[in-house]
Amino acid sequence: RAAGPQPSTQKPGVPGVKAIIAVASGKGGVGKSTTTCNLALALQANGLKVGVLDADIYGPSVPRLFHVTGRPEPVSGRILKPLEGYGVKVMSMGFLVEEETPMIWRGPMVISAITQMLREVAWGELDVLVVDMPPGTGDAQLTMAQNVPLAGAVIVSTPQDLALIDARKGLNMFRRVDVPVLGIVENMSYFLCPDCGGRHDIFGHGGARKEAEKLGVPFLGEVPLDMAIREKSDAGTPVVVTDPDGPHATIYKEIARKV
Ligand code: ADP
Repeated sequence: RAAGPQPSTQKPGVPGVKAIIAVASGKGGVGKSTTTCNLALALQANGLKVGVLDADIYGPSVPRLFHVTGRPEPVSGRILKPLEGYGVKVMSMGFLVEEETPMIWRGPMVISAITQMLREVAWGELDVLVVDMPPGTGDAQLTMAQNVPLAGAVIVSTPQDLALIDARKGLNMFRRVDVPVLGIVENMSYFLCPDCGGRHDIFGHGGARKEAEKLGVPFLGEVPLDMAIREKSDAGTPVVVTDPDGPHATIYKEIARKV
């Protein structure tokens, strides 16, 4: 579905890029970047050419997740060559500024930085460019959702009520600018205890599925809270790469098929 026609002249597409999809969350810390990265790798595993634009410029985590460092080199004029991690083309503010530099930027600067990373990067031929959006639903996010020619948006939420309220705000934000919501992913959905084998619904469970039903958008899947997901993400060796046939990779590939 994401590979459908690109919208209006007001939002010109990126040459060579068939579809751009945003991964968003109403608040930080729900696993948006982890989902972006594993979803991108799952889309690639499903046979697509994939890029990731890290638009979470306040806390760029895509370089760490893809285990890529370095400075993108110019290919011609201002156009930069994206870096590559596990076969996925990656561009992030994290490559352009030092890690400790605080991003004390106003909305318009955020938007211009993201626009540059979108339009002044040699993305080449891509089936899907996945955008890790900055968390929240403020002006910057709204403007961005409006300016980037998005084919659709995926919302990530934990099952907690508060996260879901924020997820609903995110969803409404995309609806306001006529970006189709491709669905909701429930992250940290449940915990399977490695010691007792029991299943624990730490943040409650099933909230996102109910919310998706209520809002009339697809429910894309449940990702468990699992130490392996965190450890592998932090080590820059995401589960979809390190254990491609494992239970987590299977969940992400299933989500990738639905978007
Ligand atoms: P966000 O982008 O929403 O701020 P991150 O993707 O950076 O969130 O995730 C926040 C932290 O939670 C990271 O340390 C990440 O490894 C961890 N995390 C995310 N999803 C899971 C999960 N399903 N299981 C275990 N840890 C997770």
